[in-house]
Amino acid sequence: MRVLAALLDLLLPPRCAGCGRPGVLVCPSCTARLRGVPSPRLPEHPPPGLPEVWSGAAYAGVARRLLLAHKEHGRTALAPALGACLAATLRAALTPRSPVLLVPVPSSGAALRRRGHDPVRRMAAAAVRDLAGWPVVLAPVVRQRRRVADQAGLSAPERAANLAGAYVLAGEPPRPAVAVLVDDVVTTGATLAAAAAALRAAGVAVPLAITVAATAKERSGARVRNATRPG
Ligand SMILES: [Zn+2]
Repeated sequence: MRVLAALLDLLLPPRCAGCGRPGVLVCPSCTARLRGVPSPRLPEHPPPGLPEVWSGAAYAGVARRLLLAHKEHGRTALAPALGACLAATLRAALTPRSPVLLVPVPSSGAALRRRGHDPVRRMAAAAVRDLAGWPVVLAPVVRQRRRVADQAGLSAPERAANLAGAYVLAGEPPRPAVAVLVDDVVTTGATLAAAAAALRAAGVAVPLAITVAATAKERSGARVRNATRPG
């Protein structure tokens, strides 16, 4: 199915994955909604160790449809639009003082096999291309150490317990040692906190995470200056 979807994107006149309008992959109106208003959107009860989290949009409507089309239905041609949303969010959130690693939250092996691609890594790579001239480097250095149960249907504490120690760094700690985590959606923050813990255990500072969308409401917040010490 996913190969078919990618082929159809090439062969057929495209339709906007957000609203169905013919002629474009993502129409200007849906692009604007996807970009949303980059702002801090922390969960109501942030788990310990969760970095500051900024997102472009609420996880609903157009943003949700575009993310699902890309993630679950093989519409990989949407990656540049989603990457542009991440890039705009990073520009709004961070004042870079030194080079920054963009670290995608890894998919599980089972999810990779089912989807046939790694949607978060693909979006993060698109964001780095969009951020040409910025001191950012794609660094897919976090990997899952063990299998974790499906997060759907778990409470926030259950999610945190499910993910404790689930991630490790692949190889040597990267340098520069300041990372921004990237994910598609933030819900309870358990995944981002667990991935941040793996980076911090290796001495990498994680002052910020960015996602395309968030289930939490936006709130006002100050821009993040990238730290030079692990934190
Ligand atoms: Zn549209």
